[in-house]
Amino acid sequence: MPLTKLRILTDRMTGAERRFSLRTLVALSSLPLFGVVAAFGLAPDTSTLDITPETITEAIALPALASASNAATFERESVMQSGDTLASALSRLKIDDLEIQRLLATDAVRQLASSVRAGKRIQATTTQDGQLLTIRFERSDAPALMVRRQGEAFVAEESSDLVETRVVMRSGRVLSSLYGATDSAGIPDKIADQMAETFSTSLDFRNELRRGDTFSVIYTVNYRNGEPITAGKLLAAEFVNAGKPHRAVLFRDPFGREDYYTPEGESLKKGFLRSPLEFSRITSGFTSSRLHPLLGFYRAHTGVDFGAPTGTRVKATGDATVAFAGRKGGYGNLVILRHQNGYETYYAHLSAFAPGVRPGRSISQGEVIAYVGTTGASTGPHLHYEVRIAGTPYNPLSVKLPGSAPLDAAQRARFLQQTASWSEKLVQLRGTNLAALD
Ligand SMILES: [Zn+2]
Repeated sequence: MPLTKLRILTDRMTGAERRFSLRTLVALSSLPLFGVVAAFGLAPDTSTLDITPETITEAIALPALASASNAATFERESVMQSGDTLASALSRLKIDDLEIQRLLATDAVRQLASSVRAGKRIQATTTQDGQLLTIRFERSDAPALMVRRQGEAFVAEESSDLVETRVVMRSGRVLSSLYGATDSAGIPDKIADQMAETFSTSLDFRNELRRGDTFSVIYTVNYRNGEPITAGKLLAAEFVNAGKPHRAVLFRDPFGREDYYTPEGESLKKGFLRSPLEFSRITSGFTSSRLHPLLGFYRAHTGVDFGAPTGTRVKATGDATVAFAGRKGGYGNLVILRHQNGYETYYAHLSAFAPGVRPGRSISQGEVIAYVGTTGASTGPHLHYEVRIAGTPYNPLSVKLPGSAPLDAAQRARFLQQTASWSEKLVQLRGTNLAALD
């Protein structure tokens, strides 16, 4: 990390230079966790329409600090190129050949020579006449290796793993599919899922996605020793669908609950999801009377049928308690969820129940409760879904469903304080997208 490098330099600096580098440190830390904003001006390829999603995240390099005229030490850096040997990379640092040989004779460095990869940085401090003082090697799966001069020899220092969370911003444009676009933009699947889930109450990614839709995401990635290890969480996102922006920011309330809101503070979590399945087509709508395919006579269809393969995950459309999970006549395997205000939802013809789904258990919105099947009076795999209010079935596609409660005044102040900078970043990211579209 740049800050580590800075600290190494600071240790070896005279008073005046120390003040200089401390100022630099302050400037760096005032970049909010990442230096991405400064990279916006560098976004390449902003001219043509057909470029695939732009990745506009750039790591910020530390400003060159070693040029102070009277410095007793010099800092030099070299990046391993493909085809490099450690020796050839070291010679670019203008280290004396004899010193290089001595260094390569050090056990830890000799071991490193066979495993060091292209892209890794080597940072050296030398005296004015080129004598090596310290050298730091970035490694692939281990913390950087620091080697110091001790008299005529070099001594390697092992340091512990450096684990950190970084904030990453990326933008992209949809050319064919959502996941195609997020892949091209280098966005981890987990983050793409979180974005799709977050906007699922306001946007139907299956039917409403347009070629040319743009999106921006701000998320965390967990790093160990400078290598990304796992995707963290989505902090903010914008999806511009057919010219209409949808935005989301993550808010953590004083009890530690996290949810997504619009930048204006409206909850994106609706009282009910539109559909209990991620992707599906409606094969039979709600009717007051229809010819039943198995029974052969007319009767009301009190729900909606979603065609989906056996085994497709069925999600609770709202926070609820399980009222029933078992077999029930023509419904076959059935889950009934009881929500607030007399609302109930029915999920029928299931092939199986999710573990632990039994009466009395509380379920969160979006939680998987069962799997699509064709049990009971069913001609093929599909989910029969009902919404009942005080026992009466209503058309799930048109019934007015209750929304989530808005933030109260105290929460709102906290919300704005916590999310304003992300909302601002989304606007900046969008600016870069629009430039690319022109
Ligand atoms: Zn049905």
